[in-house]
Amino acid sequence: MPEKLLCDFCGTEISNDAEFCGKCGTIFIDDVSCFNHSDDDAKGVCAICHQAYCKRCGLRVNGIFLCNEHSDYEIYEGMARVFGSSDEQQVNNYKSALEQNDLHPFLYSTKSITTFL
Ligand SMILES: [Zn+2]
Ligand SMILES: [Zn+2]
Ligand SMILES: [Zn+2]
Repeated sequence: MPEKLLCDFCGTEISNDAEFCGKCGTIFIDDVSCFNHSDDDAKGVCAICHQAYCKRCGLRVNGIFLCNEHSDYEIYEGMARVFGSSDEQQVNNYKSALEQNDLHPFLYSTKSITTFL
């Protein structure tokens, strides 16, 4: 039986062979390099595009790691779209994970979660 682990950063339950936390983007394994800079260590995995990025290419927004591209254009009037999916179940799972982390996600539609910055 594989042991269940918790993400150090957000406390989400993850499988013990997970390479990164799908909720907050924290990377658990060593030697992951940035998608843009192969010489730089990745600091997180973008919650939207699931690519690994270094600290120059991404940042945390409300505890969720986002790449520069997504953190820039997803922020609108002080809110950030933190997750989008055409899978309604996935969106609802993500929303409850944010709520468990004391965030206050806003479900704009079944396709998009927005949260206050
Ligand atoms: Zn996490
Ligand atoms: Zn991204
Ligand atoms: Zn980079």
